[in-house]
Amino acid sequence: MGFVGRADLPKACIIGAGCAGFTTAKRLKDHEISYDCFEMSDDIGGNWYFRNPNGRSACYASLHIDTSKWRLAFEDFPVPDHWPDFPHHTLMLQYFSDYVAHFGLRDTITFNTAVTRAHRDADGLWSVTLSTGETRRYDVLFVCNGHHWDPCWPDPYPGAFTGRMIHAHDYRTPFDPIDMRDKNVIVVGAGNSAVDIASELSQRAIARNLWTSWRRGVWVLPKTIAGRPSDKVPAPAWMPLSWQRKLAKSMIVRTVGRMETYGLPTPDHDPLEAHATVSSEFLARVQCGDVKPKPAIKAFDGAKVIFTDDTEVEADVIVFATGYKISFPFFDQPEFQPDAHNRIPLWKRMMKPGVNNLFYMGLAQPLPTLVNFPEQQSKLCAAFLTGRYALPDAAAMAATIAADERLHAGHYYDSPRHTIQLDFNTYCRDLAKEVAVGEKRASAAGAGAPIRPRAAPAAA
Ligand SMILES: Cc1cc2nc3c(=O)[nH]c(=O)nc-3n(C[C@H](O)[C@H](O)[C@H](O)COP(=O)(O)OP(=O)(O)OC[C@H]3O[C@@H](n4cnc5c(N)ncnc54)[C@H](O)[C@@H]3O)c2cc1C
Repeated sequence: MGFVGRADLPKACIIGAGCAGFTTAKRLKDHEISYDCFEMSDDIGGNWYFRNPNGRSACYASLHIDTSKWRLAFEDFPVPDHWPDFPHHTLMLQYFSDYVAHFGLRDTITFNTAVTRAHRDADGLWSVTLSTGETRRYDVLFVCNGHHWDPCWPDPYPGAFTGRMIHAHDYRTPFDPIDMRDKNVIVVGAGNSAVDIASELSQRAIARNLWTSWRRGVWVLPKTIAGRPSDKVPAPAWMPLSWQRKLAKSMIVRTVGRMETYGLPTPDHDPLEAHATVSSEFLARVQCGDVKPKPAIKAFDGAKVIFTDDTEVEADVIVFATGYKISFPFFDQPEFQPDAHNRIPLWKRMMKPGVNNLFYMGLAQPLPTLVNFPEQQSKLCAAFLTGRYALPDAAAMAATIAADERLHAGHYYDSPRHTIQLDFNTYCRDLAKEVAVGEKRASAAGAGAPIRPRAAPAAA
């Protein structure tokens, strides 16, 4: 198990074998960097493995990816031509499995083995404890545990609700874990899971009544424009982000219209100033009256749910599609955790300045996709670990974090859901420039690989 590469390069531990973990593994293998990859589940795929026995997948039976197959494809492994533009989750898992088989990664992954603790020792090496009880030491740690699995619930409301409440994370079908037929259901939230689940449950053969409860207005963007996936026609890369946003706004207002036309609250921000909510069904479900908009919940009184406009409904079930917390349960050192506001400032969304052997992969909300984003990030990691690329100094890294946050997320409204937003194309363009500059730094310094292999294969 694991992959054995060059003896003069450091040995890495990869936590997780979702798309962040297995594309990182491929990059390390390509560069002959030794690694162990631990996956707590019995298979790869993470979120895209329906009914994943790890209990962490939020995949529901009807889930189709919102990103088109053109944008999510890994760079050296195209999605089959005959697949639909927006593949079902079963196809996503198939695509991932085919990738892992094609590049010979499966045998390098240790399944059914969780990392329970990862600790950076005084000598800078990582002590990694496994669910088997074993502790191993590594020169480098890649964190690929995903950030859509630890449900975020709203603060408790006054009063008590006598119906049932679930988080969208646990929603599988209209009948599992709760039979929603003939029930009065409220779906709280305005993100992608919320609009998907509300659209599904609002079918007349399912819920008796379906209300959607929003704290604030959002723009619901179409999955397609003139029949083509909207993410397949990005603005040209040279165009400044502020122009791209203006262009997108005028297109959205012209094609979709204003949200209040549908009886939804007016957003207090422009399109693309919030994480995109994308649906081709939801607005139609609202327009035909099967999804009934409500503002935020104010209080409970038995089966009664009271909203902030003082209207009330009797409900049987509330589905909270209220997002996820960023969580690293295996870290016992607070400096590697996000703060109380879900913030974790990182250089290039990957590294803490001053810690050169820890990489957070895929810890971002890139527009339009997260699937092949860590594959791009891993280019810099491999260049660094093999000595082809040298990092800037810690002060320069800290300055870049602040500038990048302004560039990528400065226009989003302030919210715990917007702490890791970024524009995929801009990020990749800047990353390629950074690698080129760092290659010059490395060849000027001429020092070779920056992290010596020091970790013993296994420790007691
Ligand atoms: C409902 C839903 C819809 C989505 N739709 C889209 C979309 O349309 N487009 C898009 O780009 N993204 C979408 N996403 C985002 C999704 O998170 C990514 O597509 C992708 O799954 C991220 O991959 P990952 O490898 O970072 O994390 P995950 O897929 O979560 O994989 C993490 C892996 O790490 C393993 N792991 C975790 N902790 C440990 C540990 N301690 N030890 C060992 N193994 C561990 C897990 O078992 C898992 O296999 C969606 C997410 C949700 C919840």
